[in-house]
Amino acid sequence: MRVLEIASEAVPFAKTGGLADVAGALPDALADLGDDVSLVIPAYAEALGKGLPIEPTGIEFDVPVGTVSRRARILRCRREGHRADVFLVANDDLFDRPTLYGGPSDYPDNAERYIFFSRAAVELACRLGGPWDILHCHDWQTGLVPAYRRLLHGSDPAVANARTVMTIHNMAYQGLFWHWDMLLTGIDWSHFTWREMEFYGQLNLLKTGIVFADAITTVSPTYAREIQASPGGCGLEGLLAGRRDVLAGIVNGIDTTVWDPARDPHLPRPYAAVDAEAGKYAARVALAARLGRAAPAARPLVAFVGRLVEQKGISLILEVVGNLAGTGRVQFVMLGTGGRDEEEALRQLSAAFPGTVDAIIGFDEGLAHLVQAAADITLVPSRFEPCGLTQLYAQRYGSIPVVRATGGLIDTVVDATPESIRDGSATGFAFERFDAAGLGYALGRALAAYDDKPLWTTIVGNAMRQDWSWRTSGREYARLFERMRTG
Ligand code: ADP
Repeated sequence: MRVLEIASEAVPFAKTGGLADVAGALPDALADLGDDVSLVIPAYAEALGKGLPIEPTGIEFDVPVGTVSRRARILRCRREGHRADVFLVANDDLFDRPTLYGGPSDYPDNAERYIFFSRAAVELACRLGGPWDILHCHDWQTGLVPAYRRLLHGSDPAVANARTVMTIHNMAYQGLFWHWDMLLTGIDWSHFTWREMEFYGQLNLLKTGIVFADAITTVSPTYAREIQASPGGCGLEGLLAGRRDVLAGIVNGIDTTVWDPARDPHLPRPYAAVDAEAGKYAARVALAARLGRAAPAARPLVAFVGRLVEQKGISLILEVVGNLAGTGRVQFVMLGTGGRDEEEALRQLSAAFPGTVDAIIGFDEGLAHLVQAAADITLVPSRFEPCGLTQLYAQRYGSIPVVRATGGLIDTVVDATPESIRDGSATGFAFERFDAAGLGYALGRALAAYDDKPLWTTIVGNAMRQDWSWRTSGREYARLFERMRTG
């Protein structure tokens, strides 16, 4: 099967979030299963500055974007140990910039940048020659690809029989632009209706992808259900419910070579399930040293690693940590960046409880590994969570996740109940209602279990044994693609 993965970011080239982890790992996972897979991403300054073996291909073409033509130069990266080829679409005006999407506010020409990228990706598929079986698009940035395949390249033999898949990583980001950007797409105004590309007067690129794709996936089965209703669907719930026969949820995998406590260069003493206690203690000593302390406190360490935004339940964490920190029963560490208010609130909490609450404001990959290894419990109280990776890393590192029962969190964490403890499936603690009482109660249950040493050791063992590798998720995508090809 020939598969073209199309995404706006991918590890190790450029990353702002979980999408990059997926787009970076899935092509190789599919290639390992025997598919012929290539990935297309934009040639950002960040991607070109990484010292990766990126070379020109000699393929160049013009892409019409509204009334102008923009040049696409195609680069290629072939890396040792990676079967999937990576193509990068270069256009310095659009992609040679300090960040991927802009910031703090988006670049004003993001519509133009990703309309260009989507159209260039389909054109590239045609120029590379076919036939392609699957064009797999990720998020709003590639939402026009299914429309271009059908409306502009429907009779091109390279893609005429290709099936398109639209994968949604987060419904909250839809690529909404003012209606005049429709002119940039080159698609006829007759498609600018509520049934296809229009959303309350605006151009909606994710909606376009959902409408024109042959199949839709999202990153967990529960999230696939949640987005068919309000508020999960963020206004597109009716459309998604109408397409439920072609909508599936496939949980993300994790890179088990990067996130492996037994071979992690960020840990002072790598460990497996059998020597988890010693390995985790060594990590706590190292973390205490990083925080300027001679020795770690002798009480359970509760961690949070993630973006400091409303979605992640920061308000709940602030309240629960504030309530518990004074009791002297628990130690907290939080690593994250995000909203200015949230960062400031964490700093203040840390200042109010010195030695008990540590707030590390910053993005630090190595420290994220060390914190997960050191922690006994990881909090993931998200308001909504399409899949979530933190709870998967936490399990692998023997840090027990306390999660809100939503989206991918509840698909990947088994709440500890008398039954799940008995049958050996318990891997964490979950709560339903998005409030501090819910989180506080679930954390209380986790701390009670922590005090029961044999029980805690069992739950940690269960969590560490889970297989979250891409092998499983890759196989599910491969099966879906195969069904689409033959169906
Ligand atoms: P999202 O994609 O919504 O941010 P995920 O849980 O899917 O959430 O992925 C978040 C990823 O980013 C994880 O790999 C997590 O470890 C990492 N991460 C988030 N914040 C930080 C930080 N401050 N330092 C290091 N890694 C971080």
